[in-house]
Amino acid sequence: MSNYLWQMNLEYFKELNQYCTKNKIKLVAVSKTKPKENIEVLYSLGQRVFGENKVQELVEKHELLAKDIEWHFIGHLQKNKVKYIAPFVSLIHSVDSIKLLKEINKQAKKNNKIINCFLQAKIAKEETKFGLSFIEIENILSSEEFAALKNIKIVGFMGMATFTDNEQQLEKEFSSLKSFFDQQKQQTETANCKLQTLSMGMSGDYKLAIENGSTMIRIGSSIFGSR
Ligand SMILES: *Cc1c(COP(=O)(O)O)cnc(C)c1O
Repeated sequence: MSNYLWQMNLEYFKELNQYCTKNKIKLVAVSKTKPKENIEVLYSLGQRVFGENKVQELVEKHELLAKDIEWHFIGHLQKNKVKYIAPFVSLIHSVDSIKLLKEINKQAKKNNKIINCFLQAKIAKEETKFGLSFIEIENILSSEEFAALKNIKIVGFMGMATFTDNEQQLEKEFSSLKSFFDQQKQQTETANCKLQTLSMGMSGDYKLAIENGSTMIRIGSSIFGSR
């Protein structure tokens, strides 16, 4: 058994899980850097959706763990690594270019499946966060290149807010993405784009994210302990 297990906050998980069920929020348990034993504990409590941000780690965990786990990829994805996760990944949160989308489409086709994706919007002030501007998202969704991709489906957007305690700043970022999401949801419904889910909020900011329209939260450290 791993010595990480003592760090887990199962009471917190149970309450959060109940809250999410009641409010129809999807909970992604972010298990990055944590060993498989920790994932098994949450699995035994009914959690099936887990998020990882490194390809190799995700591939290893997928091999070791129950096959009915829904694996979400939430980190920056390099094109040359898409092929390793395409056979089993359920959802990719972090698509930030048409080139990446084309590669996901190609690998999905090879695996005879359709891969659900979110476009990652850049809402944070920080330079380091990946993601697309709202204009870039509009341009992708209205392009012919995009329309030709039959083996992917854009089912939502993901955003990461600035790392700050400033609630006004966080609200501004979350609500701007929510407005953009609502607008695009009305405008854009095509064979490979049906916007349903807005993935916003992590351990430190998920309450504000939900108040501002999030329907999927990605929670790591407050369930699994610090990394
Ligand atoms: C690590 C990570 C999370 C979870 O962060 P916590 O603060 O530990 O809850 C959520 N989303 C993404 C994209 C991450 O990389």
